Amino acid sequence: MINVTKTFLPPQEEYNSYVKRAWDKIWLTNRGELTIELEDKLKSFLNVSHLTITNNGTIPLQIALKLFGKGGEIITTPFSYVATSAAIVWENCTPVFTDIHPEYLTIDETKIEEAITSKTTAILATHVFGNPCHLNEIEKIAKKHNLKVIYDAAHCFGVKYNKQSVFNFGDVSTCSFHATKIFHTGEGGAMFCNNDEIHHQLYYSHNFGHNGPLAFHGLGINAKISELQSAMGLAVYPYLDHIFEERKKVVDFYNKNLDLNKIQVLKIRENTEWNYSYYPAVFDSEETLLKVTEALGKENITPRRYFYPSLNTIEYTKGQTMPVSESIASRVLCLPLYVGLSTEDLEKIVQIINSQIK
Ligand SMILES: *Cc1c(COP(=O)(O)O)cnc(C)c1O
Repeated sequence: MINVTKTFLPPQEEYNSYVKRAWDKIWLTNRGELTIELEDKLKSFLNVSHLTITNNGTIPLQIALKLFGKGGEIITTPFSYVATSAAIVWENCTPVFTDIHPEYLTIDETKIEEAITSKTTAILATHVFGNPCHLNEIEKIAKKHNLKVIYDAAHCFGVKYNKQSVFNFGDVSTCSFHATKIFHTGEGGAMFCNNDEIHHQLYYSHNFGHNGPLAFHGLGINAKISELQSAMGLAVYPYLDHIFEERKKVVDFYNKNLDLNKIQVLKIRENTEWNYSYYPAVFDSEETLLKVTEALGKENITPRRYFYPSLNTIEYTKGQTMPVSESIASRVLCLPLYVGLSTEDLEKIVQIINSQIK
């Protein structure tokens, strides 16, 4: 079985050696030493000023929306994982979709301003497959209209724009450390920001608002990661360079061997150091996609229709039409991409796809 992804596992004894520290201390959560150590390591690896590790990549979106969405309209992308829209609705805000750029697949910044109303409070955009949005333009629009910018950067571990971490952009950026993501803690995530005051708000929000055991600093929720999850993160951490190198090899193989006259691949934004997080293949029609999927399925190869469906068409958001996003969502397949995918398997995948699109 060749799946779209496969979780990277470090040697089990290395994981165990971190877990032992939690055991010896009898300390399993509440920002223990493993979590603090992981935060410090990630902060220096990513070169970011503020980072708070959380229990997944969705709660940080909800925290940011609770603080800055204020029940208003949130301009957002229809081409993302469902968590992006769901967080907006969950926080009693209203998603207002803006269509995407047909090649970068990120929110089309030229259409944002026409979607702004007096009720708009924030922009929540996704750096799709690790490809940054048009950061400068979005920042300009937000400044002009006094809006907050939240980036769903779940796919962006290791991505740099203009030589700095993409997590440094926007008022808040969030990441996911889910088992399927490039860097993972099983379940986990993080929120990033560049501003002391916002960091303070995010930090208190993720721990019930606790300011010491007896006092509170605003409203909060439980978004804390456990030491067992941080142990996984610490055990995966030393393999990051290896993970990026191996994924790059897979991406290079696809780029070299797939018939790219018949497949649209991700156009990476200028000045970006990308992280090889996904390999979206956009076919000429949904029919071709279904044909390719069926042929791969016969060989036990299961790519994923990611992202599908376009988020403006799901039951609790529907009402707006987004032609570009709906078209791309109906034709995009993320191909298998993980550490340990053999050349033999890659050859098979490429041969099947190329034969179906001839
Ligand atoms: C994975 C993902 C999330 C959710 O992250 P979890 O850690 O699973 O909660 C949110 N947005 C995008 C774009 C994702 O890919």
